[in-house]
Amino acid sequence: MSSLGTQKNPLRAAIVGSGPAGFYAAEALIGSAPAVLVDMFERLASPFGLVRSGVAPDHPKLKQPIKVYQQIAESPQFRFLGNVTVGHDVSVKELKDCYHVVIFACGTQTDRTMGIPGESLPGSHAATEFVGWYNGHPDYRDLVFDLSHETAVVIGQGNVAVDVCRILAKTADELRHTDIAAHALEVLAQSRIRDIHMIGRRGPAQAKFTHPEIRELGELAECDPVVDPRDLELNSASREELADKRNRANIKSYEVLQAFAARPPSTRHRRCHIEFLKSPIELSGEGRLERVVLMRNRLEGEPSRQVARETGEIEELACGVLFRSIGYRGVAILGVPFDEARGVIPNRDGRVIDDGDVVAGLYVTGWIKRGPTGIIGTNREDSVLTVNSILADLPHLDVGARPGMDRLRALLEGRGSRVVSYADWQKIDAAEIRRGQPAAKPREKFTRLKEMLDVLGS
Ligand code: NAP
Repeated sequence: MSSLGTQKNPLRAAIVGSGPAGFYAAEALIGSAPAVLVDMFERLASPFGLVRSGVAPDHPKLKQPIKVYQQIAESPQFRFLGNVTVGHDVSVKELKDCYHVVIFACGTQTDRTMGIPGESLPGSHAATEFVGWYNGHPDYRDLVFDLSHETAVVIGQGNVAVDVCRILAKTADELRHTDIAAHALEVLAQSRIRDIHMIGRRGPAQAKFTHPEIRELGELAECDPVVDPRDLELNSASREELADKRNRANIKSYEVLQAFAARPPSTRHRRCHIEFLKSPIELSGEGRLERVVLMRNRLEGEPSRQVARETGEIEELACGVLFRSIGYRGVAILGVPFDEARGVIPNRDGRVIDDGDVVAGLYVTGWIKRGPTGIIGTNREDSVLTVNSILADLPHLDVGARPGMDRLRALLEGRGSRVVSYADWQKIDAAEIRRGQPAAKPREKFTRLKEMLDVLGS
């Protein structure tokens, strides 16, 4: 048998997941010296993961990496198999039989929970659901968000929380010409929300949002940001944190918050209150969410390691809808080791490990490797590191030829799966763009699998 990575015996790689981490892994593999064939598996009929269904519709620049992914997808070494769920339509064992290496780039598909009483009351939602809903993700298409109350609460102060606040705060006119899903625009246009409270458990020096994102809350047509100047008073450890130039990003966010606190009282229709040092301890109401009980916190610990500690001081906030935006979590795949505590696939330099031992041929990249952190570009570096591990392992991998997609496709079609190829996706993509034109939108997304398959005439 000729060695692996030659024209006679190309390295056959399966990538599970078609978000940024998956595409950057494909790019690194295709650009590497050995002969490589890459097949990318995706649960949905559409590629691009969170760039399509996570990035906010009013942030089109952040979707520009899609152009790079399109170029990668057009490589003759690349194939796309959409509408295939690994672990359900095809097992990890079957993938291993067809490919030399399998790379999991499936992201963190669910959210963390707060673990407090009343969390599952109607009106209490995960931010991930709301984001998926307004972005037209088929899994969230039929969710109902009741925006008929005047007060909304968002728990957490990362960029997802800011996205949720901004989408709630914007007018329909500000969203109308984005790629927001039509069903979401219709509901948001009727929203009666006037006060949005974004609540962080720690202080303004520790907020996770970045300054361009928080600054945008001060640039909206009908919403003012509201910051209580007393909330910006810092303890000595926080002052030390902000004096450290390595925390430049936090310093800039803090300056934005100072500017918000100095604004004259709000005269606009909506207000976004940015509040610190409070943790939700209970959600309550008669049959649905009516209020959140908050515990005031103080910070304790060394600079950059400060944690929120309860003060015993409690306050209540009446609200009709609440979104927890406290981070994402990975979901275990049948046949792949999983770290339940961290919600990721355990790995060493991208090599999947089980009880400390490397599982030959299995790799991981992106959020399911390192947890849900960083910007889109962070996944490029991460995927290059994983691909470097694969290339270093090449001499030790099983050199036996693998059938790759040909056997897999037959297997899937024998099971009645309708595999969506990249050419199929291009037809769906073109149809979405056409659908958006009458409303001057970049596209009107299909939000159901059936609608997408109907475009393909199957
Ligand atoms: P994140 O940045 O990790 O923020 C999570 C927030 O939840 C933090 O404020 C955290 O507070 C808080 N939190 C965690 N557990 C909590 C609890 N039990 N109770 C109360 N608060 C809790 O996560 P994310 O907002 O989901 O964003 C994920 C990643 O995507 C980030 O890297 C983000 O920058 C990126 N992203 C970027 C953009 C953009 O560039 N425009 C948009 C969206 C997302 P502590 O700090 O106290 O833990």
